[in-house]
Amino acid sequence: MIILDGKKTSNDIKEEIAVEVAQLIASGGKKPHLAAILVGNDGASETYVSAKVKACEKVGFNSTLVRLEDTVSEEELLAQVEKINQNADIDGLIVQLPLPKHIDEMKVTEAIFPQKDVDGFHPANVGRMALNLPTFLPATPAGIIELLERYKVETSGKHCVVIGRSHIVGSPMSILMARNSYPGNATVTLTHSRTQNLKEICQTADILIVALGKPEFVTADMVKEGACVVDVGITRVKSDKTKSGWKLKGDVAYDEVAEKCSFITPVPGGVGPMTIAILLKNTLLSSKREIY
Ligand code: NAP
Repeated sequence: MIILDGKKTSNDIKEEIAVEVAQLIASGGKKPHLAAILVGNDGASETYVSAKVKACEKVGFNSTLVRLEDTVSEEELLAQVEKINQNADIDGLIVQLPLPKHIDEMKVTEAIFPQKDVDGFHPANVGRMALNLPTFLPATPAGIIELLERYKVETSGKHCVVIGRSHIVGSPMSILMARNSYPGNATVTLTHSRTQNLKEICQTADILIVALGKPEFVTADMVKEGACVVDVGITRVKSDKTKSGWKLKGDVAYDEVAEKCSFITPVPGGVGPMTIAILLKNTLLSSKREIY
């Protein structure tokens, strides 16, 4: 069994990006610049955004963090997005989700210029992805694709089962795995909460990608011998063994499932770090105007 080490792979990608940024600057170019908008004080969102800002510093990017109160109006948030859209020095903009209930997330997503949408959530970029045109791929599914590629996991003709159909993970994952490319060319089954016989479907998966947000949902009896299992889930669960009082759990019962796998991602240290690496990659692509 081989562990798909997202932490190491993400560090490799960051090093590659740092080298490229240094070359860009040496040849008179400007530093790539990522802006993030964080609304409110949600603990998990704070952690994600600060990790993204830290990663920018590590690879030599500029970063701007705009913090807004959770009482901010939709209008004010949209005005902030527009300000960054118009700022020629900023290459990429992310608005950390989820947003407070009184704000329409899709309206905010659509307000970001597709040329700066390094999260790849804008409908224009989702459409380009579906058509296999150059675009900013959504970071989490693209991170998984990169991990499969770097570990040379065979995907062509394989049966790939995805659990979860969210706009940010499951749905784009299914599109990317079905594309006529490598990694891709898989026969994809996209499952969700209304799927019947989920266990039987999972048992036929050569590649099982799990993104539903339910700790240890996938157990060994659901997994085929020799499968590649990718665990996207991250849930904070209480723990009396850690200082913080909680620890992160994936959607896969790792210890029992790992024994049956050819490849598996751990949590933490699997898909999570890859997400940030792809965000940086997208920002670099944007700064080089390689997509638009
Ligand atoms: P989400 O928007 O809550 O979507 C969950 C999906 O799982 C839905 O499509 C839902 O089906 C499906 N589902 C729920 N219960 C199910 C069941 N019993 N059987 C089959 N399908 C079921 O979640 P998400 O945003 O995709 O996130 C999923 C997990 O990944 C979370 O733990 C999240 O924290 C994590 N995540 C990690 C990263 C990372 O960087 N590693 C990034 C994003 C998300 P319906 O559509 O029918 O409701």
